[in-house]
Amino acid sequence: MSAVTRLLGGMSAVASAAGGRRRLATVGLSGGRRRLATVAAPEHFLHVGPGGDWWEGGGIYAAKHNPGDYVRSLPLPVGTRVRGDVPAGELRAMYDAAAVDAAWLEPSWSAGDPTAALAAPGRCQLGDDWTPCALRDRVWIADDTMVATFDLPDASAPLGLSTCACVLARGGAGDDGEPVVRPYTPVSTNALVGAFQVMVKVYERGTLSRALAALDVGDAVDFKHIAFNVKIQFPFGAKKVGMLAGGTGIAPMLQALHALLGSTDDNTEVTVLYGSRSSRDVLAEATLDDWCAKHARLKVVHVLSDEPAGSASPHARGRIDAGLVEAHLPPPGDDALLFVCGPPPMYDALCGPRGDADAVTGVLGDLGYAPAQVVKF
Ligand SMILES: Cc1cc2nc3c(=O)[nH]c(=O)nc-3n(C[C@H](O)[C@H](O)[C@H](O)COP(=O)(O)OP(=O)(O)OC[C@H]3O[C@@H](n4cnc5c(N)ncnc54)[C@H](O)[C@@H]3O)c2cc1C
Repeated sequence: MSAVTRLLGGMSAVASAAGGRRRLATVGLSGGRRRLATVAAPEHFLHVGPGGDWWEGGGIYAAKHNPGDYVRSLPLPVGTRVRGDVPAGELRAMYDAAAVDAAWLEPSWSAGDPTAALAAPGRCQLGDDWTPCALRDRVWIADDTMVATFDLPDASAPLGLSTCACVLARGGAGDDGEPVVRPYTPVSTNALVGAFQVMVKVYERGTLSRALAALDVGDAVDFKHIAFNVKIQFPFGAKKVGMLAGGTGIAPMLQALHALLGSTDDNTEVTVLYGSRSSRDVLAEATLDDWCAKHARLKVVHVLSDEPAGSASPHARGRIDAGLVEAHLPPPGDDALLFVCGPPPMYDALCGPRGDADAVTGVLGDLGYAPAQVVKF
């Protein structure tokens, strides 16, 4: 890809914002400032000319200079981008067919290779005080979910977050008009210097998630990290780990998997039961497929609750239930740990309310798992 193409393309936000650091002032992230009409990833296009010149961007490219120089804007499936090594001949073929060839697409975001860039608790760049962090880049990975990259105050150091842990973000406007505070689990590792990434599902009436979706590159959000945000720490001390995740509940699992699979001296067996509404909503699927292919000790079982009838998706249908837990996860015992993260109804059904850390009810309680074996993220 030429430098011009790259600047015009999907990476433009990264290129432009990374060039110089802005003075950070937290903009009014008021829920009413820039309200979204609907919660959905904006349309994204491959703009391609008859000679194979191309770039990615939003909106249909309007300029039609002359009939021989007509640019076609071909919609890209959400969560994808055009591979950087696509040959000009393939682009000309897409131009002639007026359709994108899926063979030349790749996921718009990947968690990369498993990386155990571990830090002890207490080393995080973000501390007890709110710190403004500018949005560097935002990539939509599903219809309602994005991965947002934020600049860190010290551009020469990583976030320094321990595994597992989350951060707190502040913004939007709650019922009383005041900003709300919500936890998010970074999906980047400490191998990333000067920035961190969070995967955010945007809810139709979500106070902070909608405000985050409405940010412009360069806008700042307040973040902090407190001791309460430190969860179970790697190494986890179990021979077998079972993960039960729903939606963006996959974020802490990715964080834990980075440590587990990225540590060459670790041999923990891990099985992930991952519930999504439909095949369109499965997050980080290519990353999980790649990690399974490269690490025989990882198994991922997808379960779809609302997949359209007749779909060719190979994934199981329904919700995570006792049958799937018994079939795939380690049985109750001292060498097994189960991690649970998902929406509140999922906790209620599988293990009891998240805030009730000392009790296990629901499916896992019925199957005999003890509180010490179940970690509610
Ligand atoms: C430890 C922890 C880590 C988390 N990490 C992440 C993360 O990495 N990524 C992420 O996207 N979220 C994560 N969350 C959830 C996140 O903190 C917020 O709850 C979420 O973004 C919604 O906040 P909001 O202000 O947008 O919505 P709110 O204003 O709190 O809610 C408004 C409406 O949105 C809907 N809604 C909100 N939350 C949910 C939900 N969980 N399930 C179903 N409907 C809901 C409901 O309709 C609700 O009435 C985490 C939560 C916890 C406790």
